[in-house]
Amino acid sequence: MFSSLRLRLWFSYALVTAAALAVVATVLLIYIIRNPATYRQANARLTVVAALLRKNEPGWANLSSADIQARFEQVDQAYTTRLILYSADRQVLNDSQAALQPALQMPRFPRLQSYSISRDQNGQVWLYLIRHLDDGRWLMLAVPRPPVPLLTILGDELMLPVLGAGLMALVISLLVAFWLARWIGDPLQKVVVASRHMPSPETTPVVPHGPHEVQELARAFNEMNTRVQTSQLSQRAFVANVSHELKTPLTSVQGFAQALLDGTASSPEAQKQAAQVIYDESGRMHRMVLDLLDLARLDAGTLELQRAPVDLPALLYNIAEKFTPQARAGNVGIRVEASPALPAITGDGDRLAQVFTNLLDNALKFTPPGGCVVLRTAQAGMDVQVEVADSGAGISPQALPHIFDRFFQADPSRPGGQKHGAGLGLAIVKEIVKAHGGKISVRSQPGTGSTFTVSLPLAIPGASTAASKRKA
Ligand code: ADP
Repeated sequence: MFSSLRLRLWFSYALVTAAALAVVATVLLIYIIRNPATYRQANARLTVVAALLRKNEPGWANLSSADIQARFEQVDQAYTTRLILYSADRQVLNDSQAALQPALQMPRFPRLQSYSISRDQNGQVWLYLIRHLDDGRWLMLAVPRPPVPLLTILGDELMLPVLGAGLMALVISLLVAFWLARWIGDPLQKVVVASRHMPSPETTPVVPHGPHEVQELARAFNEMNTRVQTSQLSQRAFVANVSHELKTPLTSVQGFAQALLDGTASSPEAQKQAAQVIYDESGRMHRMVLDLLDLARLDAGTLELQRAPVDLPALLYNIAEKFTPQARAGNVGIRVEASPALPAITGDGDRLAQVFTNLLDNALKFTPPGGCVVLRTAQAGMDVQVEVADSGAGISPQALPHIFDRFFQADPSRPGGQKHGAGLGLAIVKEIVKAHGGKISVRSQPGTGSTFTVSLPLAIPGASTAASKRKA
């Protein structure tokens, strides 16, 4: 029942109000009990006796201490009021009840002209009135404090105002709780409704209003919604791309297998050609599946990087050597300009080899005969840079921003386009470089060539595994 924000707020306000009223009532009660004005009758008696004494006072100066004592006892008997005379240095000279009661000390700071309360050694509370006489002595009139009429005070003087104030506070707190609950609850409700519709692409952003924290929640929800929608779109595009990329080779494999089966490919050359196509296409599919697996592992952060010092110049010379036959066949030159003084970086040698193999493979594919591909290293601050520059076809300005997107292929009709893969190579390169804490960028002029620049940090921040880096 009390789980709703409105009721909880109201209940807390009611509780705070009741506690505040109880404190105020207690303080008032203490004040009233301690206030001599509460004991009107006793005070009136003190006033009358004080006035009476004042009239006879002039004759006192000549009276002996015993006479004064006798007079005090008379007055005490007549008006049941204790009379005490103190010397100027506050010593008791006469006390009408000296024989009956313990002494009543004169207060250190007597409040003249008003009634006060004092306590004797027995704990008896006295209401007293004190006066400074002309000859320097002090006269105190005291009566025992009457029992406190607690219930009467509570009933007559406190109950009604406290109850009235309590009722008013309850109504106000109800209104404030209602308004507060709407202020907080309504925008929260909108977030709840929007999140129930969440998987749908039509989920519109929630307009942030209400308290700052709820606005933050709405903004965080909108950001999450955008991310979910983007990831849903890219997931759909991914599945569509994978299906599309598999369809073509599968169709050729099926067609040529059919030709082998039904005897359409009857001559040994036709059979060899059919087997070759099946072999090539299945190889292409195999490479694509391996690429997809790599990407999935990099995305999930489960691809463990075997980090060790990597001698980049040696790695680049090795790769260049592996590609030399292919480059010679295409009449393209390969040059490595690596400084032997380049400091070793920490990374996964095999994965970095995959990066530069992909880049060099692309560069050779798109460089026409007579062209040249250069692998160049340099140190830039705390980074090591490797450039793979070719003098090939270049990349159009329209294609350039998408070059690292998954399944992106620039116009396959260009030279080199016939040997195209599935458009996953550069996406994998980018993810591996990222897992090493590095960056990759590209500059290109159509017709002049392209330069891919990989920057790798000398010391990898928090170097452990790709997985831990990506999850962070
Ligand atoms: P693929 O595996 O199909 O080659 P990539 O991701 O490696 O895919 O490359 C994506 C696209 O970028 C390719 O379609 C290609 O047209 C273009 N590309 C990559 N490298 C170069 C280059 N050095 N020169 C010109 N175009 C390039």
